[in-house]
Amino acid sequence: MSRYAYVNSAFVPHRAASVHIEDRGFQFGDAVYEVWSVRDGHLLDEQGHFERLYRSLDQLDIRFERSQSAMQVTIHELLRRNRIREGLVYLQISRGVAPRDHAFPATNTPPTIVLTAKRFSFSAAGRRAEQGVRVITHEDERWDRCDIKSVNLLANVLAKQAAREEGAYEAWLVDKAGLVTEGSSTTAWIVNADGALVTRPLDNHILHGITRKTVVAVANAMSIPLIERAFTPAEAKSAREAFITSASSFVMPVVQIDDKMIGNGAPGSLSLSLRDEYLRAQ
Ligand code: PMP
Repeated sequence: MSRYAYVNSAFVPHRAASVHIEDRGFQFGDAVYEVWSVRDGHLLDEQGHFERLYRSLDQLDIRFERSQSAMQVTIHELLRRNRIREGLVYLQISRGVAPRDHAFPATNTPPTIVLTAKRFSFSAAGRRAEQGVRVITHEDERWDRCDIKSVNLLANVLAKQAAREEGAYEAWLVDKAGLVTEGSSTTAWIVNADGALVTRPLDNHILHGITRKTVVAVANAMSIPLIERAFTPAEAKSAREAFITSASSFVMPVVQIDDKMIGNGAPGSLSLSLRDEYLRAQ
């Protein structure tokens, strides 16, 4: 079966899909993106990801005229053509193609739209959650607008690679004040000695995770206290539980940070029940 991508206004075979070499996403990382998980043919946290997409575009003044409903139709058609009911959808929108110049091109330059979809087994991810994952800590070398979901991911890429080279799943980024901001592609959480969830407040130093938002609602419904404040790696290492959240990993227990085992080294019970409840809430 052929795999399809969507570029600008056409469905094209994935292997032949391309953008111009003067695309500003390629030249400058002048583009934003979103990722949705697909389960039973539905986009998880669909609305939240669209809201963040339009906010990112607005913050960067990328003029994207297509409505959310038009994009939803296109995404579902892409899923249909690829016969995907369980997987991931990736959307990227760049400021378009123009002769290379740092300043914005003419305002009538159409943005470039790229959509891809792939199969992804959430049951394999579920098995990983039963084991828990290891994270390393790594310097946060990013800029001050991490709330914008831009494709400028070099510092995230380097941190994730450092994690992989140490056999870890994720890198928790640590800012100049010695506080954890977030993972290279996930939100970072701990559970304190009182059983409260602790995660960094939403500001420009982190991406406002859509999974975070749903997990906060789920925790509220479960009457689990939430404290929005930053924490240090040392506090995390002595926490009762730790976990990460993202659109593709949902709620993933963390069982080791650097060389320190969390709790007894098994996924925390609160982390696992939040994972179950998150999936039930969808
Ligand atoms: N932080 C960063 C840096 C990320 O890249 C991601 C994943 N896109 C997240 C957090 C988690 O966000 P979400 O729950 O919306 O996937």
